Amino acid sequence: MKRTDTIVIGGGQAGLAMSHCLTARGIDHVVLERGRVAERWRRERWDSLRLLTPNWQSRLPGFRYTGPDPDGFMTMPEITSYLERYARSFAAPVQGETTVLAVERRGAGFDVTTDQGSWHAPNVVVATGYCDLPLVPDAARHLAGDVLQLVPGDYRCPARLPDGGVLVVGASSSGIQLADEIQQSGRSVTLAVGRHMRLPRHYRGRDILWWLDAMGLFDERVDEVYDAEISRNQPSLQLVGRPDHATLDLGRLRGGGVRLVGRVTGASGHTVHLRDDVVSYMAAADIKLASLLSRIDRYVERSGLAAAVGEREPFTPICWPPHAPTPERLDLKAQGIRTVIWATGFRRSYPWLRVPALDDRGEIRHGGGVTPVAGLYVLGLQFLRRRKSAFIDGVGDDAEALAAHLDARMAAGVRRTRLTGVRTRSRATTAGYREGRPL
Ligand SMILES: Cc1cc2nc3c(=O)[nH]c(=O)nc-3n(C[C@H](O)[C@H](O)[C@H](O)COP(=O)(O)OP(=O)(O)OC[C@H]3O[C@@H](n4cnc5c(N)ncnc54)[C@H](O)[C@@H]3O)c2cc1C
Repeated sequence: MKRTDTIVIGGGQAGLAMSHCLTARGIDHVVLERGRVAERWRRERWDSLRLLTPNWQSRLPGFRYTGPDPDGFMTMPEITSYLERYARSFAAPVQGETTVLAVERRGAGFDVTTDQGSWHAPNVVVATGYCDLPLVPDAARHLAGDVLQLVPGDYRCPARLPDGGVLVVGASSSGIQLADEIQQSGRSVTLAVGRHMRLPRHYRGRDILWWLDAMGLFDERVDEVYDAEISRNQPSLQLVGRPDHATLDLGRLRGGGVRLVGRVTGASGHTVHLRDDVVSYMAAADIKLASLLSRIDRYVERSGLAAAVGEREPFTPICWPPHAPTPERLDLKAQGIRTVIWATGFRRSYPWLRVPALDDRGEIRHGGGVTPVAGLYVLGLQFLRRRKSAFIDGVGDDAEALAAHLDARMAAGVRRTRLTGVRTRSRATTAGYREGRPL
């Protein structure tokens, strides 16, 4: 059995950021990754996808974009090679092609069993991703077998779909991009719209994410919002990164011929049941956006930026004029729809985590990434400590906070591997969990 001070599980941006912070503190560790660095960006994304965050916003601890196009959006090969370069920049100790099969408590630390042998360490950091598995509604199980069902992680390009129309369920970032691309390829697309967060790509001459960054909205801490659980469950941004920097929203999709319907509530055979609620979701998204834009305007006034940015722009609601009621059922056969794509979000699953850290929904219990099991940490979850926690740009601050916590734990009770080769004692209490509240 190999020994180290900390085992990081997952070699995406979160695992690498953690590795950078541990390296900076001289803490011996290994990053166990079942594939290669940035595996999910390689394998679980469609061909045309680009990041929705601009290049300047791909800031990681000790690393940032220095190329010629800071306002551009990376393709998947570009983000993959960016993360590979990041790993190389500090010789991250990544052991690839190694799947973690079990994490169990052993003495003061953890035994980690992999398909490439076993490890023991006093600390484990779970960085296996917020977007781990697709969250597909129960309706999917009741659809007829001859309807092809996909999730965005399986979709590659329109040419690989069977002939016929497509129903895309979910109108956040993934759903609107797929609806647009498939419609542009000449197929008929129906988009089932639920809760979403409408955002223009630009406002007053600046990228919308420039504004959110400048105003500190991404830095908002868990203890600064009204209800952390509500904030964690917000839909993802309805935003896309394209070479032409264009805005893609429901108005543009509707104008291009995509049929907008309400939320899917169930299915049976070739019938999909819908709620006639698309107007209320669009109106809610309009109101939220109008309020954000006036917040930006107030920020411009307060900070004396008016001369440096563009004029105030008129706000146009998409949900106007009121539409005719939308259908409450969709007959897939009659509409020629042969494919359903569930762009309905993500869930997480930790069948290999055999320590009492999960709540009754199967999520890891934590305070700012510090779990109730001493020495066990989690990183990369939505709003772990701040609104930006699950973004490339946000994981670094959280990684640094967890590395500091872990370092203090080591100093307090656990001798380092490289000094002794053996574990001595540990304060296996829940004190760290309380200490782990957002800073
Ligand atoms: C379609 C899409 C677009 C996105 N666009 C952006 C964007 O533009 N900008 C942005 O900032 N964020 C974006 N995100 C959000 C976020 O940046 C990504 O989800 C990112 O991949 C999260 O990085 P991570 O390191 O937390 O997790 P992941 O990238 O999911 O990495 C987890 C790693 O753990 C490995 N792993 C899992 N289980 C095991 C195991 N048992 N043993 C060993 N290894 C394991 C996986 O192979 C994977 O490499 C996007 C997300 C999605 C889904």
